[in-house]
Amino acid sequence: MWTLRNATHAAVVDPGEARPVLEYLAREKLQLAAILATHHHPDHVGGIPGLLAAHRVPVYGPKHEPIPTLTRAVAEGDEVSIPELGVTLSVLDIPGHTRAHIAYYGVESLFCGDTLFACGCGRLFEGTAGQMMASLSKLAALPDATKIYCGHEYTLANIKFAQAVEPANAALATRLERDRRLRDAGKPTLPCTLGEERATNPFLRWREPAVIESANKYLGARVSDPLRGFSAIREWKNGF
Ligand SMILES: [Zn+2]
Repeated sequence: MWTLRNATHAAVVDPGEARPVLEYLAREKLQLAAILATHHHPDHVGGIPGLLAAHRVPVYGPKHEPIPTLTRAVAEGDEVSIPELGVTLSVLDIPGHTRAHIAYYGVESLFCGDTLFACGCGRLFEGTAGQMMASLSKLAALPDATKIYCGHEYTLANIKFAQAVEPANAALATRLERDRRLRDAGKPTLPCTLGEERATNPFLRWREPAVIESANKYLGARVSDPLRGFSAIREWKNGF
């Protein structure tokens, strides 16, 4: 979970639990201004009732997913204004991991839940590979400097898989070394940047000849359809 904050207020994104958020707000003397959810999974919304018991704030989340605590259901085209922070975020529809998963984009930051991960992407629980590929392509069109605030710290395992797909990608080796050092020091590898994702994330790189070749090897066939290649990489990752 993430907070977006200034000196006096904070918004929280995907509070899977209430207690660490309440403790953080108390410690930092912050007033909660809003709650934002990207999708309905309990590890992203489980803390909302506990936060609402202590703070009466708007709760934003995907219009087409079952989250009973939402007060403002949103979808692509909508904006989320948080006046206490002077921030406005745009909502993007990015289905694939779940059927109506959304992202929040603004202030050079992307809160993308379990769709785009550092060097990986979410599993397909409710959506199709085609939806995930389109959602990731939409995110990949954002500026290189965009900071990616994703839902889980899976970076090292994801880089190892990415190296299996693209063994000769030098940017991956550099990234592994840096991120391993961060984790050894007990630090997060996040946020990463979209530019870095475009250079290393196999799920954004399905047009690259090396990725296509690895997908073909996994399938034991030569496929020209990009979606089949993308699906093969996603399936390969499930069993990696
Ligand atoms: Zn999830």
